[in-house]
Amino acid sequence: MEVLYKSTRSRQEPVSASMAILKGLTEDGGLFVPDHIPALDKSLKELAVMSYQEIAYEVMKLYLTDFSEEELKNCIAKAYDKKFDTEVIAPLAEAEGAYFLELFHGATIAFKDMALSILPHLLTTSAKKNHIANEIVILTATSGDTGKAALAGFAGVEGTRIVVFYPKNGVSPIQEKQMVTQRGENTFVVGIHGNFDDAQTGVKKIFSDRQLTTEMAGQGFQFSSANSINIGRLVPQIVYYVYAYARLLAEGKIEAGQRINVTVPTGNFGNILAAYYAKNMGLPIDRLICASNENKVLYDFFCTGVYDRNREFILTSSPSMDILISSNLERLIYRIAGDDPEENARLMTALGGQGRYEITEKMQEKLQDFYGGYAAEEETAATIRRIYGSCGYVIDPHTAVAATVYGKYVQETGDRTPTIIASTASPFKFTRSVMNAIDHKYDSMTDFELVDELSRIANVAVPAAIEEIRSAPVLHDNICEVYEMPDTVKRFLKLQ
Ligand SMILES: *Cc1c(COP(=O)(O)O)cnc(C)c1O
Repeated sequence: MEVLYKSTRSRQEPVSASMAILKGLTEDGGLFVPDHIPALDKSLKELAVMSYQEIAYEVMKLYLTDFSEEELKNCIAKAYDKKFDTEVIAPLAEAEGAYFLELFHGATIAFKDMALSILPHLLTTSAKKNHIANEIVILTATSGDTGKAALAGFAGVEGTRIVVFYPKNGVSPIQEKQMVTQRGENTFVVGIHGNFDDAQTGVKKIFSDRQLTTEMAGQGFQFSSANSINIGRLVPQIVYYVYAYARLLAEGKIEAGQRINVTVPTGNFGNILAAYYAKNMGLPIDRLICASNENKVLYDFFCTGVYDRNREFILTSSPSMDILISSNLERLIYRIAGDDPEENARLMTALGGQGRYEITEKMQEKLQDFYGGYAAEEETAATIRRIYGSCGYVIDPHTAVAATVYGKYVQETGDRTPTIIASTASPFKFTRSVMNAIDHKYDSMTDFELVDELSRIANVAVPAAIEEIRSAPVLHDNICEVYEMPDTVKRFLKLQ
């Protein structure tokens, strides 16, 4: 059955999957959502014998219904190949009784690679299908990981250019080095004086700037987004939850149909929303455990039904979760509002204006699937130290936030359901925080000395993504104020 994509904010005409991917955001400033969530049409036992690529096809074909089998299989083959350092693409590691789903084996060693290695192919295929001759300009705001993963995905892809905005003082040194050493004529990296929310709001503003988009079109350009608001990112993320379930089943860790829990370190709410979609497709998931760091706006929301971004923005050791406006939550709000765009638009307008909104009790009742928790910085560090001590397994601070919250959940509920913890980044991306958590004696080492020491104590080879940047030259040194973002884009496109 065909799936069309409608807006969360108005009853505008729904569009095909390929158009939704091309546009990124809807014209009314809302997000595209599928008009229904399709059910898995293969049994769990059938899925259990499939490869990652095969499951990717089985899941994505249900959402991207205007792609031909050949087009979709082609995109999948180009995305999930040797760029990943393991054939299984997303391995499971067992530690302290939980299954860590390692989503960091792609080109930039963070889970963003799972979707961003396929998005450029989905996008160029969509452009072809819709006879778009314009060059596509990808605008991306990043809290650190999306930027590099998007750059790596789009660098050198014909018919595309990519601009990445990151908070100049809000990413790890390795994250920054990864981005500013990016090669490719079609890439442009800019640090902004502001935080991630400023970058994201700035990008959204550019998208809705009619004058600029008209001017762009006149020069043969059109914008699209690589942020997780693009449905072309959300859909590939559903795949690994289905895959993880299939792996557990294949390995005899669970029975077919047995429920599992999923814990996700959450920022923009994209990854956990993908798990929620997987559940709604019929995958036997029980609770969705939403883990926040000290920017615990989501934890408060799940406790009280009030979403309130009016609070101090805290820089933590898990920067990819330092977010106060979780964009993808809008898709959940829309759904629990009974697919009511007017009600959702009212709440989102309140968020834009007063910075807060409150959902009704009836909506709150539909959040039973979720459990919200958060981890303070010391708890996160203690978790890294403890798991390393007990299992010799080193996890990154984002994953450690999730592991901490999962521990609290078990303590509070006694629920021993088998649980997958989304492991969203390699510890090599956040070596300083990780090594400091393990032992303060590492304080005086340089970033790359820490990399080698981590490799030694964890008995894991230094990932290629880190080796590459050791001596790579800095190719981007652009910095701007938030209000200068539109002009910066114009400068790159030589529109002025
Ligand atoms: C992006 C990111 C997250 C947050 O994921 P969302 O989909 O934005 O909720 C968590 N951990 C890491 C390492 C990330 O890069």
